[in-house]
Amino acid sequence: MEKVMEVNNLKKYFALKGSLLSRKKILKAVDDVSFELYKGETLGLVGESGSGKSTTGRTILRLLEPTYGQILYRGKDISKINGEELRSIRKNMQMIFQDPYASLNPRMTIGESIIEPMLSHNLLGKKDAEERAFELLELVGLDSDYYYRYPHQFSGGQRQRIGIARALAMNPEIIVADEPVSALDVSVQAQIINLFKDLQEKFGFTYVFIAHDLSVVKYLSNRIAVMYLGEIVEFSTKEVLFNEPLHPYTIALMSAIPVPDPRAKDKRIVLDGDIPSPVNPPQGCRFSNRCFRKMDICDEVHPELVEINGHKVRCHLYSA
Ligand code: SF4
Repeated sequence: MEKVMEVNNLKKYFALKGSLLSRKKILKAVDDVSFELYKGETLGLVGESGSGKSTTGRTILRLLEPTYGQILYRGKDISKINGEELRSIRKNMQMIFQDPYASLNPRMTIGESIIEPMLSHNLLGKKDAEERAFELLELVGLDSDYYYRYPHQFSGGQRQRIGIARALAMNPEIIVADEPVSALDVSVQAQIINLFKDLQEKFGFTYVFIAHDLSVVKYLSNRIAVMYLGEIVEFSTKEVLFNEPLHPYTIALMSAIPVPDPRAKDKRIVLDGDIPSPVNPPQGCRFSNRCFRKMDICDEVHPELVEINGHKVRCHLYSA
């Protein structure tokens, strides 16, 4: 398998302003995260809001400055490069956002928005960029005449297709899609997920697909990393994760996936309480205040991520 990216011990901390008398607080949004990305695969990043999955996605594309760690793109560490060097590498990595409307200029036609990155990176001249935009609109299932319309004239699903066309304009190798279907109706969600799948089959894109819901990443992902409070708590292939989830948090997320059989017993595990603040995470296991399998050690000792036959888990119930 061809490795396109390697992320080692990535940390992204934010300094929060304290009051006059209190010290500055540090929000540890991403805390020592490592993974690899292989050409043509989809890595699902899953977790509740506050788990650090979106910050991880943005930091590996250098939309946020990493606090610590390495981000190797095709062997080159891009964690500290800047200026033209970063701009040139960033063409290969694009982001698709939950709300494409926010990333589209309401005063520009859809076509102008799509050609704008091609022109600013001098990828193509205006005429060729326009031709490419027509092609891209058709590729994502839209009429090429939509080139001349404005963002407010489209539905949520159409806007997401436009967001995808805009990301494809740069011919990227890696696409980070941050909750790209969360705001859409279920039927439209399926269409957009199918579009992601078709485009990957055609062009071999590598995706990092971010969602708070395991059922959304199930169809598309080859491997899944479950995140909680800035850390990866479980990581394996999709098949292994769904057949044999190990971490109590993953088991709880799994239990929330609706079962189509109305006679099936509701086995949902409802987690008490909210995810703690990343400013002041629990000292031992970060999931300890909500865990239904908690032991005495869990309050005291922070569990390491251990690997059991290629399946990684961060929990005192398991040892390598
Ligand atoms: Fe639960 Fe303890 Fe495992 Fe944390 S380490 S997930 S608290 S059993």
